Amino acid sequence: MRIAVISDIHANLHALEAVLAAVDANGVEALWCLGDIVGYGPRPNECVELLRERADVCLAGNHDLVVLGKIDSFAFTGEAAAAATWTRTVLDAASERFLAGLEPSARAFGAELFHGSPRDPAWDYVLDEHAAYLSFRATSAPLVLVGHSHVALQIADSDPLQGDQAPAGTTIELNATRRILNPGSVGQPRDGDPRAAWLVIDTTSRWATFCRTDYSIELTQAEMHERGLPKILSQRLAHGV
Ligand code: ZN
Repeated sequence: MRIAVISDIHANLHALEAVLAAVDANGVEALWCLGDIVGYGPRPNECVELLRERADVCLAGNHDLVVLGKIDSFAFTGEAAAAATWTRTVLDAASERFLAGLEPSARAFGAELFHGSPRDPAWDYVLDEHAAYLSFRATSAPLVLVGHSHVALQIADSDPLQGDQAPAGTTIELNATRRILNPGSVGQPRDGDPRAAWLVIDTTSRWATFCRTDYSIELTQAEMHERGLPKILSQRLAHGV
């Protein structure tokens, strides 16, 4: 089976639509989303609706939980707080209902999925060796999938741990070594590549491939400007930071 893994859409509809088109062109049979569907971006309801229709597994991220009021909004400052406040004013009842039914972790097809990390599925980042070590010790599945950092990466549970960022085209053989994989972010990449990030896992051939897809960054920026969202949030999309 071919599974597409996406994360951190952040209400960027044009990025999500471009990724879903690429997913469809890739013969993918299942779609897993690791959370943060809303927050930062201009089209929260449309992104929720698409994932409600398309995702076979969907997690809640910290931004989704803040917008729902399940996490105190004091957790956010500056532009993240401003975008969450705006999102709350436009989120419709159907979107709220869908997001309210999501959890920040799940199991699927023998893999363990977390928005953040196994230690704290909503907030913790797996970005360094220590966090990766603790995440491996807190799980047992051969494949652990995380989002949240907006940085595509792959880490192998070897001695010593081996991991690195996973730029477009990186392929990983899913062998006996346990792995943590982060697909990167669809709607707000922070690893220097502004293209929408996603991951495809082939459970038959046992390979994972990190993918990037072009989308109209300018259209999303124009929508953010129209809605009065903080300028820094639209500017960063052009640079993937
Ligand atoms: Zn995020």
